[in-house]
Amino acid sequence: MFEQIKLDYGFDALEPYIDTETMAVHYGKHHAAYTANLNKLAEQAEKADESIEDLLTGLNEITDTDLRTGLRNNGGGYYNHNLYFKQITPGGSSEPAGSLASKINDSFGDFESLKNKLSSLAMNQFGSGWAWLSKASDGSLFISKTDNQDNPLSLHTGHIPIMCIDVWEHAYYLKYKNLRASYIEALWNVINWNIVGALYEG
Ligand code: MN
Repeated sequence: MFEQIKLDYGFDALEPYIDTETMAVHYGKHHAAYTANLNKLAEQAEKADESIEDLLTGLNEITDTDLRTGLRNNGGGYYNHNLYFKQITPGGSSEPAGSLASKINDSFGDFESLKNKLSSLAMNQFGSGWAWLSKASDGSLFISKTDNQDNPLSLHTGHIPIMCIDVWEHAYYLKYKNLRASYIEALWNVINWNIVGALYEG
């Protein structure tokens, strides 16, 4: 049984960056639907007892094409939004610290440069998808973008996502309309780098 991450903040807590209605629909409808569909399909595939990470990295074991596609989309939707809602919190924290901060400097020059590069990937994702900051098993950092609800796990990259930007229109359209860049810029204000840092250490 897969459960949606519990929010320790209210739907209105991320104003003015992420509006109340978007949070209510995004978490309460979209993420809830991915979770319900995942549970149904995982049951059918006899994968309900697996961790979501194992399920996504083991998608190729599922021979039924429709079931595999359904789990890729809904399992991805479940996992991606759990990370998305976990990393955003009221107030955020201004900048990465500790070993994550040093690794960001090694990999991208500085934090500002990471922000610019990841924002640019998120902007250039054509249609629905995500942009990712992930870590490899040796601790190196990678940025990437994916279509739909794919992620670095379901694409078998060997990288573990630690931060993400949802660029599906449902993530921003109610407030920002077609202005994806404004949403991406706003999102940086509510990323909690203590949480991302803990995921990096994990
Ligand atoms: Mn979304």
